[in-house]
Order: sequence, then structure tokens, then C-alpha cells
Amino acid sequence: MFSQNIADELSIFLQQLEQRTALHAGYPYNLSCDYSTLTKFFNFLLNNAGDPFVEPDFGLHSRQFEQQVLAFFADIYRIEPENFWGYVTSGGTEGNFYGIFLGREVYPNGVLYSSQDSHYSIAKAARLYRMEHLVTDSQFNGEMDYEHFEQLIRARSDRPAIICLNIGTTVKGAIDNLEIVVDILNRNKIQNYYIHCDGALSGMMLPFLKGAPEINFNQPIDSVAISAKFIGSPLPCGVVLTKKHYVEKVETLIEYIGSKDTTILGSRNGHSSLILWHAIKTRGYSGFAREAATCIENARYLYKQLKLRRYPCLLNEFSNTVVFAKPSLQLIKRWQLAVLEDWAHIIVMQNIDKQKIDSFLDELDGVQGLQAG
Ligand SMILES: *Cc1c(COP(=O)(O)O)cnc(C)c1O
Repeated sequence: MFSQNIADELSIFLQQLEQRTALHAGYPYNLSCDYSTLTKFFNFLLNNAGDPFVEPDFGLHSRQFEQQVLAFFADIYRIEPENFWGYVTSGGTEGNFYGIFLGREVYPNGVLYSSQDSHYSIAKAARLYRMEHLVTDSQFNGEMDYEHFEQLIRARSDRPAIICLNIGTTVKGAIDNLEIVVDILNRNKIQNYYIHCDGALSGMMLPFLKGAPEINFNQPIDSVAISAKFIGSPLPCGVVLTKKHYVEKVETLIEYIGSKDTTILGSRNGHSSLILWHAIKTRGYSGFAREAATCIENARYLYKQLKLRRYPCLLNEFSNTVVFAKPSLQLIKRWQLAVLEDWAHIIVMQNIDKQKIDSFLDELDGVQGLQAG
């Protein structure tokens, strides 16, 4: 009797998940992945606690896979293996916490700058670390207001600057202009600065898109946080990338784990590394490039269709986030759209193809009844 209940509950949940996955358009998650070849590893504990490059005493870890994942990211972010350090995180937030933490360790007196459209984890990091945090206005497209940024910088030009640069904002997919930011820092003679890039979603797309702004370690950036949103993973996770010499400043040797304590968290799940490794091995550079191009193309399709209907909308260049005037509550609920004030967005991920876009548009037009929902 009891075990029947368990089976029933699980099967109801499975059905719910299948339905919710089929009609999901508002959040930046690639829902079209299949990692079933990895299921047998879920009968094992995998804990990558400690530094990904230091072999611990503890044997149940997946460091060999984590290191390959990191090597791939180091390559697309143009940093030589000997100067590189990073790790597989629990997601974009931890990567931001790590980048801002390093910035603060390098410049304890630094002021943190981010924009109004930056992710809420940035303000949370500032609170956690008790840092002075200045927020610039944003332009309508979600990009930083550079004039306001310069005013703020000028007023604190005696202090180091720690800047959180957006590579794809959460709501509008806007990319802050690294060149302009660096010009402003130079013009105001800020010698000590640290640039952390929040590339939660687009950080995994820009390196693969032809003509996209080059934001990598060939430029004066210091760390990048990327989440697994674009790669797709049943366990939320991500990576953070930085320069090795900064990390040597913060590391402490912990005898108990036989490794270096360089990460924000202690225990780190090792299945994430296995999942990311599998994605990289099976899809690789050309697979990701194809997927990124398709997402952008489909986002432009949706944008064009909305424009044809004179429906208020916005799409940034190199972004798959289509912002448009908030539709009916019924549509928001049915498609799990994210809403901010008068706006909603669809993030055109790998599982949102033209067919799905067309059925959304039909519903927006009121062509189809919504009785199915
Ligand atoms: C989603 C997102 C984050 C947070 O990532 P999590 O994996 O949810 O922690 C940070 N920054 C931006 C721009 C995001 O869109």
C-alpha cells in the first residue's frame, strides 16, 4: 500500500514536470538535454570539496572531469592554462560571489560598481562583504548608463574600482560595453581596478557568435561567472574563471581535507562536473556555436513577428531575450513568463523552436482558444 503511494506520487510529479517543461519560455534554461547515460553515477557520492587542481585524500570526486571542463572554458575565454584558475560552481550566483570576493581581496578598499539592471546577487554580495556599492542608472535597453558611471567614478577617483560588467542582463539581455568602461577608468586615472563579468547566460553564447563583442582575458577583465543555463543541466551549476595569481592571495591550506580552501563553498557536487564534461564532449565548440546561432535566429523571428503586429517589444543585439509588453495573466501563467513591471520576456533557448514561437503568437493573437491550458 505504502509503496504504491510512493509510485503514484512520483508518477504524478513526472507528468507535471513533462507538462511544465513543454510550456516553458520565460527563464533562461536549456531544457532539451539528455544525460541518461550518466544516471548510473547517481548511485555514487561525488564531492569535489577543495581546490579543483589539488588532489585530495578523499577519493570519491570527479576532478579529472572538472579539470577538462575548466580547460574548455579557459580556451574559449583566451587565458593560458598556466595563468588560469577557476572551478565548477553551484551556479551564476556563486560565481559572482567568488569574483567580487576576489576583487575585494585584491583591493580591500575598493568600491563596487554595478548597474540598475545587474542581477540581484551583486547587491547581495555587497551586503555580505560589507562593501560600498554604487549602482549606475541603466539605459532603456538595459545597458549601463556610461555618463552616470563616469560621474560616480569621478566622485570616488581616490579609491580602487571593482566593476561588475553585465554580459547579458537578466531581464533584457543587455551587454555592457567593456571598451567604454575601460576608457572611463583610464580617463579618470583609476589605476587600480578589477572587472568581474557576470555572463550567467550570454557568457556561454558570445564566444560562439560571429561578430559579437570580444569579452575575454585578452581584454583587461579579471574574472567571469557563467551558469549552466545555456549548456543545460538537471543540477543547477556553473563555472567561474579568473587569473591564478589572484587566487594565491586568498588560499589557505586545510589539513583536514588535504586540499586548498580556495572556493566559496566547502563540499561541491561532483556530478555537475560530469554533466558539463558530457555536454562539452558530445556537443563541442561547433555544437554550441550552432545552438547559439539558432537561438539568436529564432529570437529575431519572434521579435519580427511581434513588430509586424505593432506589439511593443525589444531585442538587444547578440541576445536571445525578447522583451515585450506584458500579455494577459493567462498567457503569463501558461508559458511561465517572467514579468517585470509592464514587461515580460521570452528567452529563446534551444527548446523554443519556431513551432513553439508560432503557437505562442497564435495564442497572443487570440487565434486559438486557451481551453487547453
Ligand atoms: C541567472 C543569473 C544569475 C544567477 O545565476 P544562478 O545560476 O541562478 O545562481 C546571475 N546573473 C545573471 C545575469 C543571471 O541571469
